[in-house]
Amino acid sequence: MRVYFDNASTTSMTDEVVEVMCRIFKEDFGNPSSIHWHGRKTKSLIEQARKTVAKTINASLSEVFFTSCATEANNMVLKNAVEYLHIKRIITSPTEHHCVLHTVQYLAKSRHIEVIYLHVDHKGNPDTDQLANLLEEESAETLVSLMHGNNEIGTMIDLQLTGEICKKYKVPFHCDAVQTIGKYPIDIQSSNISFLSASAHKFHGPKGIGFVYISNDYMLPAYIHGGAQERNMRAGTENVAAIAGLEKALEVSVKDMDKNYKNIINLRNLMKQQLSNSINDISFNGNQDDHFLAHILSVSFPPGPKTEMLVMNLDINGISVSSGSACSAGIEEDSHVIQAIKHPKERKTIRFSFSPYNTIEELNYTIEKLKEVI
Ligand code: PLP
Repeated sequence: MRVYFDNASTTSMTDEVVEVMCRIFKEDFGNPSSIHWHGRKTKSLIEQARKTVAKTINASLSEVFFTSCATEANNMVLKNAVEYLHIKRIITSPTEHHCVLHTVQYLAKSRHIEVIYLHVDHKGNPDTDQLANLLEEESAETLVSLMHGNNEIGTMIDLQLTGEICKKYKVPFHCDAVQTIGKYPIDIQSSNISFLSASAHKFHGPKGIGFVYISNDYMLPAYIHGGAQERNMRAGTENVAAIAGLEKALEVSVKDMDKNYKNIINLRNLMKQQLSNSINDISFNGNQDDHFLAHILSVSFPPGPKTEMLVMNLDINGISVSSGSACSAGIEEDSHVIQAIKHPKERKTIRFSFSPYNTIEELNYTIEKLKEVI
């Protein structure tokens, strides 16, 4: 049996998505910038996809731009905001994805931007009182960048509250929504989001395509120069099939959102219960009662020789999961997120992440194998 419990890392493409993309690969090859019939046809596919994205997040068409991935979207927002909105200070958290953290670190170095990392508690919740105090105290041009749901431990911010704080102090709010788009309803208007990033391969779409929402209040100039694509924002011939694949994946995710949530939360609850029943001294990282991503279960295993090699041992048994560590200079270290929540170094973190296509049989098999391995 092969089990895939690494859906926070990437997801499989659904049949509907593959079908749409294959049709476009075969039939719709025109360059969307061409004015003839073939070009107009592919252009209309892109604009149709833009419509679907805009409707999903309650944005207007002129506020949605396709990018190659969320990493690019986040780079685009952060670098352009510093360059053109004259941002001097970025308030973020130590548990953001590296594509945000490394970009703000780059901006601190190259553009002398002040970067403030909000305190996070042991469950990974950024301190919103601190955020409000910081915004009240100082008036330097500030951008707030906080992710909606954490990709490692699943902790979610209170989007409404964060948006309200940013609105009160009139600062733009950038939200990395990579782990939540298609899984949770997001309304950029009611949440006061100024910039938002997403990536298709996290919601059963293709890799290499994402989008960025940029509020009309903060229009930014070109990020990639050399052509008029994406209304001059991002030059380069569009990846039409991937854009249409993103659209289809989003459509299906939104249509099945409630059903998918129920399936996933069932799997998560069952997994928690079975792990707690069968393995001693186990605990769970991140929020567990509310404000957590249903598809992510970050498990803290007790120290011991058997748990050291857990990811590899599960892999040998046909089960793909992620560890909460990264290899740096040949030494395995807890990831920056696991370190930020002060998870005990001697314990081992494994992230199980689910999709609606996982089954209870796969879960039972995984528990069985875990019991054998530990
Ligand atoms: N932000 C978060 C929260 C993520 O989980 C990821 C991917 O793991 C990214 C950004 C980067 O996305 P992409 O692979 O589209 O660059």
